[in-house]
Amino acid sequence: MSSVAMLLEPREKTRPLVDETPLISVVIPIFNEQASIATCHLRVCSALDQLEQHCEIVYVDDGSSDASWALLQQLTSLRHQTVRLKLSRNFGKEAAMSAGIKQTKGKGVIILDADLQDPPELIPEMVEAWQTGVDVVEMQRRKRAGETWLKRSTAAAFYKIMGRLSEMPVPENVGDFRLLDRRVVDQINQLPERTRYMKGLFAWPGFNRTTLKYDRDPRLAGETKWNYTKLIDLAIEGITSFSTRPLRLATFAGLISLTTALVSALFLAYQGATTGLSGLSGHLNLTIVLLLGGIQLLAVGLLGEYVGRLFIEAKQRPLYIVMEETTSAAVNENQEV
Ligand code: UDP
Ligand code: MG
Repeated sequence: MSSVAMLLEPREKTRPLVDETPLISVVIPIFNEQASIATCHLRVCSALDQLEQHCEIVYVDDGSSDASWALLQQLTSLRHQTVRLKLSRNFGKEAAMSAGIKQTKGKGVIILDADLQDPPELIPEMVEAWQTGVDVVEMQRRKRAGETWLKRSTAAAFYKIMGRLSEMPVPENVGDFRLLDRRVVDQINQLPERTRYMKGLFAWPGFNRTTLKYDRDPRLAGETKWNYTKLIDLAIEGITSFSTRPLRLATFAGLISLTTALVSALFLAYQGATTGLSGLSGHLNLTIVLLLGGIQLLAVGLLGEYVGRLFIEAKQRPLYIVMEETTSAAVNENQEV
């Protein structure tokens, strides 16, 4: 741009008022993250500063038992509003994210982990992609540093199984770290289900999507809150809350074993009639009985999963309880950016 043109450009440099809609709301679920909170806040704030517009950071304390809540109270920002929600107990990351997302006012919403595995420095790049007109910017992990071989391979297996079994496949290696446009957030906020498998719910509304690749960092401090039991629970939840295809598989398994039984009955009758021999060896008999018993129990268990989900939905309990809420406006409201 020539220097004359620059002079003619309107100089829109005064900071928008704080009660204006924030450009971006960053939702950060917190469960015992006292060691990461301060660094996380600094890095998120400096990433948001680059956007040169008023933003909002929403922390959701998911029933932490350490000093997280007290630390959150001390966080403020020069340019951005800080909102903190305290849930009345640990409701799990999915509920904490739902609570945070519901609270947001921004035109775009970013979900970020407090342990800084998802680098906040990528925010400007995500916003840039969003401003080209897409509604969802999904962040796909290129490598998963600091995660064991077992974790990586089970995660890969999960995405494969999910893709096969579910009518709503979730993109591979895309976690909760993403940017959602307000119109997608509004749709997600309206979804009434109590079993919140967020990766599926994020995918459900559709809209225009794009994917950016990034390298996932190791955890800054502390330990992962996910053990294998929780991950298996999440996987079963993901599959059963988004698809009834497993029930169809059970029906098919029933059909296959029924057909096999009919064919083998015909074969045995024929063998008995032509050679006079009849019956199978005891060992084979036992194997067949166990196989069928196994299939039946699996199918009943599966049915139980769905009935259980109906039971939970029918109770219509709230997803989470917000016990306390505090907000700090930007410290320097009229500062120029
Ligand atoms: N988290 C939460 N509630 C929980 C478990 C985790 O709010 O019950 C938060 C946690 O503080 C972190 C994010 O969810 O900000 C991701 O958790 P974590 O790093 O333990 O998961 P991982 O990265 O190992 O999948
Ligand atoms: Mg983590």
